[in-house]
Amino acid sequence: MFQNSRVRCYIGLGSNLNQPLQQIKNAKEKIARLSDVALLQCSSIYQSKALTLDDEPQNDYLNAVLEIETTLDAESLLDVLQQIEIDQGRVKEKRWGARTIDLDILLYGEQEIKMERLIVPHNEIEKRNFVLLPLSQISSELEIPGKGALKKILQNMSDQPLKKVGEFNG
Ligand code: ADP
Ligand code: MG
Repeated sequence: MFQNSRVRCYIGLGSNLNQPLQQIKNAKEKIARLSDVALLQCSSIYQSKALTLDDEPQNDYLNAVLEIETTLDAESLLDVLQQIEIDQGRVKEKRWGARTIDLDILLYGEQEIKMERLIVPHNEIEKRNFVLLPLSQISSELEIPGKGALKKILQNMSDQPLKKVGEFNG
């Protein structure tokens, strides 16, 4: 459950239901208060169009990224994040469906993890500018294990609209 060293991690937050701005801010406060976790940096909060697997319309998403240090191992970190998702009323829905709060472990130190319930770096991180842009805002020099330099990945990305809509302290 615990390990001796602190690991620097990046958490992606997303919401498009039930007052997304409040959902994102509440989740950030809960993460900041976790024992065994220190919050180091917060990105701005960004708005983007929903990705959908079907033609059902969905509300726009708000997304942000947090940088933390933790002594939790990766699976224990996933456990506490999933508990926060449950606390904020996330119900099991279809993949890519609307959600009150989505908390993803984007990066866990420099580790690559391929377990059934945990894949790090997060799947398709390199295709999602609503993850990459807030990530580069707080840590532009990052290397994404197995995928290369964050700066390089962003350079090669086609532009999808992403709008900064707020700050955690604003
Ligand atoms: P997505 O975040 O890709 O939109 P979901 O949040 O709906 O997808 O998927 C939830 C599932 O993803 C959980 O059951 C969890 O075990 C799994 N999962 C795999 N890798 C991760 C990760 N890095 N962070 C969070 N959940 C993950
Ligand atoms: Mg998720």
